[in-house]
Amino acid sequence: MDLTFSPQHEAFRAEARVWLEANVPSGLASMNTAEGYRQHLEWERKLFDARWAVVSWPEEYGGREADLMEWLIFEEEYYRSGAPGRVTQNGIFLLAPTLFEHGTQDQRDRYLRDMASGAKTWAQGWSEPNAGSDLAGLTSRARQDGDHWVLNGQKTWSTRAVFCDYLFGLFRTDPEATRHRGLTYFLVPLDAEGVTVRSVGGLHDDEAFAEVFFEDVRVHERDVLGGVNQGWAVAMATASSERGLSLRSPGRFMATADRLLDLYRRCVSGEVGGGPLSLDPRLADDVVRCWMDADAYRLYTFQAVTALMGGGTMGPEASLNKIFWSELDVRLHETALALLGQLAELDIDADEAVDHGRWMDGFLFSLAGPIYAGTNEIQRNVVAERVLGLPRVK
Ligand SMILES: Cc1cc2nc3c(=O)[nH]c(=O)nc-3n(C[C@H](O)[C@H](O)[C@H](O)COP(=O)(O)OP(=O)(O)OC[C@H]3O[C@@H](n4cnc5c(N)ncnc54)[C@H](O)[C@@H]3O)c2cc1C
Repeated sequence: MDLTFSPQHEAFRAEARVWLEANVPSGLASMNTAEGYRQHLEWERKLFDARWAVVSWPEEYGGREADLMEWLIFEEEYYRSGAPGRVTQNGIFLLAPTLFEHGTQDQRDRYLRDMASGAKTWAQGWSEPNAGSDLAGLTSRARQDGDHWVLNGQKTWSTRAVFCDYLFGLFRTDPEATRHRGLTYFLVPLDAEGVTVRSVGGLHDDEAFAEVFFEDVRVHERDVLGGVNQGWAVAMATASSERGLSLRSPGRFMATADRLLDLYRRCVSGEVGGGPLSLDPRLADDVVRCWMDADAYRLYTFQAVTALMGGGTMGPEASLNKIFWSELDVRLHETALALLGQLAELDIDADEAVDHGRWMDGFLFSLAGPIYAGTNEIQRNVVAERVLGLPRVK
């Protein structure tokens, strides 16, 4: 197997690296606050203007028509440079691949450019108070009225929805049909009459999540994505992007693994903490394992992308990816906390906080990884039934 990059790919990497090094902002406030969200959107606009926001998209929507390999390279450079998380992620990584696959030309033309620039951002409206893992059990509904649909119901855990302009969500359109068959995927403006978005406080007392209520909300039929009662199949395309390639590319974990290695070296040299004698010698093995696992995920992804570029598709194996990256993220941060010992507990603002307290922050967020994008228990069921062909759980 040849794992070297072509000269074209190397040139692409070099161009991305130079631009990112010159432009990446630092010290942005949390994207779960109004001020932080605004700052992140400014950064998204800058990326878009330089045509780095959505490198693999067609030029008409702000992309560079880069191939998937180049997209992975860009992601590596993005996280390597320490650039901030993407507040446009629900749109560009989840909805957009679904729009390219199932959307109408009109929907692509109306939504993609603003999504790429951050002019309009998207919330995901799937979970409900009684439908999370069992998503097909959702009860929010839509009934047709002329060329409109009328939406009623409630969504929950919608990430940063208080700051978003639109929501993509699943609603029951045929109550008589079996659970998975009577659902439709809608694109809903959050400023429509009858929509109420209510913030649910996050760990840092911020606005990380929201509940969204719909009372007779009218949505035009041109905003049905992928056909009436076809919502489950369309939603699974979005889920495949969320679990598989696009939401959590390997560049993110490679960058964390590199930072972990750097932290280990600083601990061994005594620059951080109580010096080498205070470290449990087994931690060296943990650091190496983390780094190898991150690299394994990277190589596996290059293999998957090579198959996709050759005409392959990504099916239920996306669930394997999701289990791997989410558990890797927890291990990376747990190892960092073990290296730091008591120092890990210091508040972000404390003078002696190491790396601005990011390891504890990252650890707390990593604990959500096995839950969002479908819990890992559910992913293991998918792998058992649909990848390994084991009998279905009753
Ligand atoms: C950080 C974060 C961001 C999120 N963002 C969004 C968002 O933007 N939009 C959105 O719609 N949702 C979002 N969610 C919600 C997320 O999709 C749900 O939390 C998830 O699907 C689990 O649903 P639940 O919380 O209702 O748990 P439940 O479904 O009640 O599950 C509880 C526990 O039971 C287990 N379980 C349930 N059924 C089975 C089974 N059949 N076999 C084995 N174990 C089972 C689960 O694995 C879990 O451990 C987010 C969640 C988090 C943590």
